[in-house]
Amino acid sequence: MAAQSVKGFKDILPPESERTAAFEALSRRVLEAFGFRELRLPTVESQELFVKATGETTDIVEKEMFVLTDAGGRHLALRPEGTPGAVRAFLQHNLNLQGGRTKLYYVGSMFRAERPQAGRFREFEQIGAEAFGNAHPSADVESILALTRILDEAGLKGRTTVHLNNLGCERPECRPAFRSRLLDFLRSTVSDLCDNCKRRVDRNPLRALDCKGDGPRLKEDPKTPRLEPCAECRAHFDTVLTLLPAGGVAPQLDSSLVRGLDYYTRTVFEIRSSAIGSQDALAGGGRYDGLIKSMGGPDVPATGWALGVERVLMALAAAGAQPRPPHPDVYVAVQAESPELEKAAFTAMQLLRGSWRVEGALFGHSLKSQMREADRLGASVAVIFGQSEFSEGKCTVKDLREKDLQSQTTIAELERAVRNRLTP
Ligand code: AMP
Repeated sequence: MAAQSVKGFKDILPPESERTAAFEALSRRVLEAFGFRELRLPTVESQELFVKATGETTDIVEKEMFVLTDAGGRHLALRPEGTPGAVRAFLQHNLNLQGGRTKLYYVGSMFRAERPQAGRFREFEQIGAEAFGNAHPSADVESILALTRILDEAGLKGRTTVHLNNLGCERPECRPAFRSRLLDFLRSTVSDLCDNCKRRVDRNPLRALDCKGDGPRLKEDPKTPRLEPCAECRAHFDTVLTLLPAGGVAPQLDSSLVRGLDYYTRTVFEIRSSAIGSQDALAGGGRYDGLIKSMGGPDVPATGWALGVERVLMALAAAGAQPRPPHPDVYVAVQAESPELEKAAFTAMQLLRGSWRVEGALFGHSLKSQMREADRLGASVAVIFGQSEFSEGKCTVKDLREKDLQSQTTIAELERAVRNRLTP
């Protein structure tokens, strides 16, 4: 059997590759309109970076990381997410010394050794944005609005929900107090918990709240303790809620939303689409004020998110909102096999490709089959080189969308004639 791709890793063929590129271009445009600038990160980092930043007890690090050892015995990992690398780069290159805010975005593959299923791959693409240096809720709001704007402009307006929660901070009366109340509660119900939660209940009790295992659904249990945020965290979150509607976002509050990672504080969010089945999260993120310091840097607040490109494209397909794949604007054909006509056709194609998508060069076939191909490709205009008109320095421009519209032009005027047909 011929070689096959590895399970969980996929080829992206046209038109999906074109849809992916179009979505990336739209995301870049929106992010740049919000003042984010591109950061290109390496695919491989030290394994330790993710253990430290993402968190030892998270699924991503505990079970899903592709690790490798290089010839020098160093433990490396294929990046499972972008934030740790972005923080490392921020610190390594002293971007904080530029003062003020640093707003960065990244686009690229992430790798997680998860069980492949619909909407879940081992290599998938994320677009992420990180805003460093602004503690004010406006940073959270701006970050969320950039994300929702991307999804809206892509064609998902009104088709997603924004889920929001306040995870509090590390002040003793805030999340630590909640964690210890939750811990007491979990210990009293430990026999019901799934094996995963039992094992990590002491180290990461919050994860039990959104456990997808076979334990009880704690978030639906009224006895489950809820976070009572400190006054500062409450005020911060209230401002987020006050400002978001200015950008047309009406979030749903969801106290069970804890996100998979250890580093989040205060506002966390997830965007979901009910149209794509059980893997319904399109994007997620939140504030992570303590992470940079915990990685040996200064006390810099930050907030960020990542979206899953494949999931967004799935949601667009489910909504019938996919952009039309590109098609040639111009198809160049020759009426008969003749080196003279073929040469003229190539010269014309070189010229026209300066402005349009041009297909053609199916020489050696009848004009009929060339025109059949032009139709199949969905070309808008055909340029046909025929022997007798060519001897008068002319060719034919034919509108393929309105079959009877055709005219002769001099070859010198060809570009203008095509432009006249293509621009109404
Ligand atoms: P996370 O970094 O886990 O918050 O993921 C952010 C987004 O990436 C999710 O909301 C998904 O859209 C997407 N994502 C995460 N894991 C996968 C995966 N294994 N396959 C495809 N998309 C994923």
